[in-house]
Formats: sequence, structure tokens, C-alpha cells
Amino acid sequence: MPNDIANNLISVNNSIKNAAMNVERNPADVSLVVVSKTQPAKSIQLVIGRGYSVFGENKVQEAEEKWPDLKSAYPESTLHLIGPLQSNKTKRAVQLFDVIETVDRIKIAKALAREMDAQNIYPECYIQVNTGEEPQKTGVLPTDVDAFIKQCCVELKLPIVGLMCIPPAGDNPSLHFGLLSEMAKRNGLHKLSMGMSSDFETAVEFGATSVRVGTAIFGSRPAVKTKE
Ligand SMILES: *Cc1c(COP(=O)(O)O)cnc(C)c1O
Repeated sequence: MPNDIANNLISVNNSIKNAAMNVERNPADVSLVVVSKTQPAKSIQLVIGRGYSVFGENKVQEAEEKWPDLKSAYPESTLHLIGPLQSNKTKRAVQLFDVIETVDRIKIAKALAREMDAQNIYPECYIQVNTGEEPQKTGVLPTDVDAFIKQCCVELKLPIVGLMCIPPAGDNPSLHFGLLSEMAKRNGLHKLSMGMSSDFETAVEFGATSVRVGTAIFGSRPAVKTKE
């Protein structure tokens, strides 16, 4: 199992490199966010031991249970929030995460801006876009994106660096990655968080600056549902 993780890391990393080179991008411009949700600290330490230091968690509470110890042991590690944020957890999120990828509605944007000022910590933020316009999914709708970005940057002065999306299962992800890239470009944002285990190579070809990969590194996650 430890060997599997080590080998998987090498193989994912190689696939990122190849995908980048296919479209004449510099592989160094793509960062691998290792999605460690549901994984025990032991597995995370193994990944850190292989030289990877950027992680993604989707639940504030789970991250709070695992990461304070890991962060003090490995201060160079950085943590991305990749799951939906509730307004009663913005304070803890600002304290714990280095990057918040899921700014998805004005209420959260306002709460984050308040918390950041109160704590004087300014984690980089991404706006999550519901590119597939799926009713059950969080994220700003494509038609609202330009106004929402403006409001976050100008009015709330949030440190927005880019856009993030999760394409609908079963859709061709290219369409969504292309759309996200275009929305970022026309708004002067340079970072694109897109691509997961099943489609990260395509995402890199469409300009992803970070890919969020869990299963392809750790194997499939146990199907437990924890309540946030
Ligand atoms: C779980 C998760 C991932 C990783 O998915 P895999 O298919 O395991 O690579 C990426 N992004 C988000 C938002 C996730 O919740």
C-alpha cells in the first residue's frame, strides 16, 4: 500500500508532465493538489515524505481534526479547501486553510472578507463556477460570473486569484474546462483549478494551473458519508 501510493505519485506526476508538454506548456506551471479527504495522517505523511506538500480537504471539520498536528510537523505544507463552505465555519476556514477554492455565493464572500480583516490573514481565493448549471451543485452560474468576480474583487477586496470547477459526471470535461478558462481570461484571473483523477490530463491541456487528485494517488475512498 505505501508502495502503491509512492508509485501512483510518480505516475500522476508523469502524466501531468506529458499532458503539459503535449500542449507546449511548462510542467512547472501546473501544481498537484493531493486530495487527502478521508485519508489518515499516516498516508498523508507518506506523500509528504515523497516531496509533495500541497493538499486538498473538502470538509472544514475533518481538516481541523487532521491538519493542526500535520502543519506543525510539516510547516511547509499548504492546505486547500475544495469543498463547500458554510458561513458559521468561515472563521475556522480562514485560520486553517492557505487557499480557499470554493467561494460560491455572496454571503460566503462577505463572511470571508470580514473574517480575513478580523484576523489579518488573507488566504488566496478561487471562485467556484457551476459550469454545468446543475441545480444540486454549488458554484456561481456562468451568467453571473463576471459580476460576482467584480463584486468580490472591487467591493469586498477579496484576494481572488482564479476560478475552480467540477464538471458534471458524464459530460465531456473539455467543454467545461474551456469555458472556465475563457471566463478567467476575460476577467484577468490567471489561476485555474480544474481536473480530478479521471480528467486531470485534459484539464492540463486546457490550461489548468492546479489539478486536484485523490483516487489516482490513494486508491478508492471508503464509501462513508461523514456529516459536515
Ligand atoms: C474529492 C475531490 C477531488 C478528488 O477527486 P478524485 O476523483 O478522487 O481525484 C477533487 N476535487 C474536489 C472538489 C473533490 O471533492
